[in-house]
Amino acid sequence: MLFTIEINDQKVSARRGETILTVLNRSGIRVPTLCHLNGYTPTGSCRLCVVEVEGIRSLIPSCSAPVEEWMKIRTHTPRVLKARRTIVELLLANHPDDCFYCDRSGGCELQALADELNVHERKYMNRRKPVQVDRNCPAIERNPAKCILCERCIRVCDEMIGVSAIEIIGRGNKSQIGTGINKGLNYTACVKCGQCIMVCPTNALKEKTTFPNVVEALNNRELYPVIQFSPTVPVSIADEIGIKPGKDIMTLLRTAMQRIGFKQVFDSSFGADINIMEVAAELAQRIKTGENLPLFTSCCPAWVKYIQDTKPEYKGWLSTTKSPQLITGEIFKRYFAPLAGIPGEKVFMVSVMPCTAKKYESVNEQSKSEVDAVITTRELLKMIRMLGIDFTTLEPEQTASSNNIRSSAGVLFGAAGGALEGILRTLHFQLTGEELANYKIPELRGFKGRKEGKIMIGKTAIGYAAISGLANAKSLMNEIKAGRNDLHIIEIMACPNGCINGGGQPFDTSEKSIRSRMKALHDTDDTELIRVAHKNPLVSEIYSRLLGQPNSELSKELLHITYADQPPV
Ligand code: SF4
Ligand code: SF4
Repeated sequence: MLFTIEINDQKVSARRGETILTVLNRSGIRVPTLCHLNGYTPTGSCRLCVVEVEGIRSLIPSCSAPVEEWMKIRTHTPRVLKARRTIVELLLANHPDDCFYCDRSGGCELQALADELNVHERKYMNRRKPVQVDRNCPAIERNPAKCILCERCIRVCDEMIGVSAIEIIGRGNKSQIGTGINKGLNYTACVKCGQCIMVCPTNALKEKTTFPNVVEALNNRELYPVIQFSPTVPVSIADEIGIKPGKDIMTLLRTAMQRIGFKQVFDSSFGADINIMEVAAELAQRIKTGENLPLFTSCCPAWVKYIQDTKPEYKGWLSTTKSPQLITGEIFKRYFAPLAGIPGEKVFMVSVMPCTAKKYESVNEQSKSEVDAVITTRELLKMIRMLGIDFTTLEPEQTASSNNIRSSAGVLFGAAGGALEGILRTLHFQLTGEELANYKIPELRGFKGRKEGKIMIGKTAIGYAAISGLANAKSLMNEIKAGRNDLHIIEIMACPNGCINGGGQPFDTSEKSIRSRMKALHDTDDTELIRVAHKNPLVSEIYSRLLGQPNSELSKELLHITYADQPPV
């Protein structure tokens, strides 16, 4: 029901059940908040969004208070501004004075708010005891000294990822974000997805960087540095590095990386093509025997970790095929390096991923990884700045890397539903010898956290589902547990909408930005000549000269994983 309230003496429409903050945002009035997250349970913990409501003595947190018909609200009175300033002054009292050295400087919400509220000196002295930085996780670093207890990370971990790895521990001024067992993140069910980093307003959570190792490898003459990119990387950084629309960003990126010192530049979509060949063959075999169905995709390491940690009884349903980055690393060292006269052990393979869990995957023993360092899209942006590449003047050049043929099916891995679409295209060919009449599977496009459908392959109706946002997997798992048996394959991506929204991506996660990244991947698929993995000539070369056929003994040895009983940390 619609009704009218007053905000700053103006009449504004509101709906029953809305919070005051929702009405303010819709009316173009911004009030600051450090704890609010759209779509998540409001906590009102930071109290920065307080407003004055006529007739109520105390200030009201607008993020959690429902709007009422009688309300006359004022959003920026001297009393409100003073309260907000005091909150920021108290937060800063417990915050390290190291903005100059902090990775988030310039992008820190607390720093921006202090400036906005004109807080430019330390008013209260630090009362917190020194706390230890948690560095034992290979993907994520946690610095409680920078935490402002906004609880955003807790809500995302709980409501979007569904693992509840972190919580508030201690009481009063001893409160801090920690793990229930009060040990490092590595000892919890954390799946290393990095979604908590994406919402942290300060630098209390960040990726564990391997950036110095990369710079060292680039300057080590004994090594042959090679870099691979996830297809999500070029579509996520164009704005950030000032590339004008219409420029061929992948060629520019390749040119830039060779200028920095990488000998070859690879698109991990090639590894995704091989992944498709292997997973489709695995699925064809399981359909034949009726065993271990539905097959769960394994390209998202956060999901694989979740199954191993939390639902080990389903481990047998996971595809054993390695992820695209691992496959690209393996095939480069095993095949392309010797072709170029380089011993595999001299190659230093760097992987640029939108994902923090890929860092964990690359050091995790069971992966038998040939990737030597993983950097996130954010770290790549830093590297570009530090190593002096200016994209506004750089001209794209044909580079020495010829090993870059990939299909657009491999590119689709960047968006939720895309890996499954690529696998179904090739599964159709492997089972019938014919191409799918229409490569595009509309049911797998779009922004829903759960997409489902059926596709006829020969006389069999193949049931499929794609889930993104790990918490969304729970209801489907429960249905399967309760006897649902019409699904043959399920793609699961821990991050909402898939890798385009991964925990290593630029901090702009607005709907507009995610839509444009997804569109860029889908547009590539619409315009590319090679749209299925099995028609990629480089994939055919690898099978005819190295692997034999999908799921051959050698491909099982090189490209598949035996899942450990307990996932190694
Ligand atoms: S990385 Fe993901 S699973 Fe781990 S604490 Fe952060 S949100 Fe939770
Ligand atoms: S770690 Fe970051 S997101 Fe989590 S409570 Fe602290 S400041 Fe908020």
